[in-house]
Amino acid sequence: MAQFKNYINGEWVDAQSGEEFERRNPATGELIGTFAKSGSADVDAAVAAAKAAFDRWRKTPAPKRGEILFRVGQMLIERKEQLAREMTEEMGKVLAETRGDVQEGIDMTFYMAGEGRRLWGQTTPSELPSKWNMSVRKPLGVVGLITPWNFPLAIPTWKIMPALICGNTVVFKPASYTSRSAVRLVELFEEAGLPPGVLNLVLGSGETVGNALVQHPDVALISFTGSNDVGQQVAVECARLGKRVSLEMGGKNAIIVMDDADLKLALDGIVWSAFGTSGQRCTAASRVIVHEGVFRELADQLDARVSALRLGNGLDPQTDVGPVVSDSQLQRVHRYVEIGQQEGAEILVGGKIATQGELARGHFHEPTVFINVRPDMRIAQEEIFGPVTALITVRSLEEAIQVCNGVRYGLSASIYTRDINKAFRAIEDVYTGILYVNAGTIGAEVHLPFGGTKATGNGHREAGQAALDVFSEWQSIYIDY
Ligand code: NAP
Repeated sequence: MAQFKNYINGEWVDAQSGEEFERRNPATGELIGTFAKSGSADVDAAVAAAKAAFDRWRKTPAPKRGEILFRVGQMLIERKEQLAREMTEEMGKVLAETRGDVQEGIDMTFYMAGEGRRLWGQTTPSELPSKWNMSVRKPLGVVGLITPWNFPLAIPTWKIMPALICGNTVVFKPASYTSRSAVRLVELFEEAGLPPGVLNLVLGSGETVGNALVQHPDVALISFTGSNDVGQQVAVECARLGKRVSLEMGGKNAIIVMDDADLKLALDGIVWSAFGTSGQRCTAASRVIVHEGVFRELADQLDARVSALRLGNGLDPQTDVGPVVSDSQLQRVHRYVEIGQQEGAEILVGGKIATQGELARGHFHEPTVFINVRPDMRIAQEEIFGPVTALITVRSLEEAIQVCNGVRYGLSASIYTRDINKAFRAIEDVYTGILYVNAGTIGAEVHLPFGGTKATGNGHREAGQAALDVFSEWQSIYIDY
């Protein structure tokens, strides 16, 4: 049985307690491996290694840091298929999507490797003669990275690459469910020749390892992606300790379909955005706000499209929708389906835990669409994080935008319309970090800022130049001559 360890100071080591935890394939129940079940002593060792490595790494010229990232990017390309297959086994999403996950990691790695030659500061004129003013980016020190399981490779690269290129050293705590993908990523850095201590990996639970990282006095920044419940706790602790924190949390993303929309295009976007990754994306479309003029036609076609989706093991090319990540996630999703019915919404399609044949071995929920949904219902307000979406009918664009904005989250939204005026009205009035016109709510390019407004985040962004602001701070320099 494969055993996976921590990576501390350039060595693969067991947890100091010697304990391990297991992970099973969510489609089949098969054992994937055992993993170091670390505690605060392992975090202490990792932070000490990162602290010791910091001075040398920050003084390594940024283009040279970038060269190591380029090597990692090349290895990600060469191992893409294997990494994608392992990821599907580990967390369930279909192969086409895990390939996409690795590809996002490749894109981010090359993008940030290139930033090594572009870590620009500014030069500005001085108020005074014989004076030269400029500003430069400086690393923060040891940074703690805490990631979720839904993008096992992409999200870690979105944090590790900007952290390293800016000259920080890292302690990485991945989601327990996707620890193998985290090990695979860190192995590439080892092969690429990253000096010991610059990137450390500590496996184990959020309550112990994650919390110890947050509490550690030598960790300058926590970059967290995950749920609001945990993110808020992390934020409170960081505030108490005077520590920087960057948070990317939940979403309740909406697709608006106007009566002039290309319905075929809109249906493609809805199906992919609501049911891709079995709805377990922070950007998943869990609300469809549809103009009353096209409601019936859209609902009928959506019913047909969703009924035809095939549930199954994500490794099978015939599968459209894989399992959800765990039994507890399955029960949580299904509870929301029950809540929706109790609130008076009606199931258009789906609604059940799937247990036919092979599906009984895994955690499968039927793709589910609700109709007769009021915007204030819990299924239209709370993040479900599963293959469930709610159709809400509106009479105008103004009402659609009001409903779209009427949730506590602000990650992504989309509008389908052929009217450019409506599209621009949505761009102006929809208050989300990401807005799509005539495309679904999912999909991001690494050179644009990524993140959300309101309860989704705390004002930081991942990806793009904005990520550099999280992992560095400015020093202003005044030179008299
Ligand atoms: P989660 O339960 O909040 O876990 C996220 C990470 O935090 C995991 O590594 C977890 O470790 C760790 N953790 C748990 N308790 C902790 C604690 N007390 N202190 C420190 N760390 C702790 O979230 P998830 O279920 O993995 O991911 C789903 C959520 O992530 C959804 O809400 C989704 O919207 C959000 N998400 C947001 C974005 C975005 O960019 N906005 C992207 C992807 C996902 P364990 O795995 O060991 O529990």
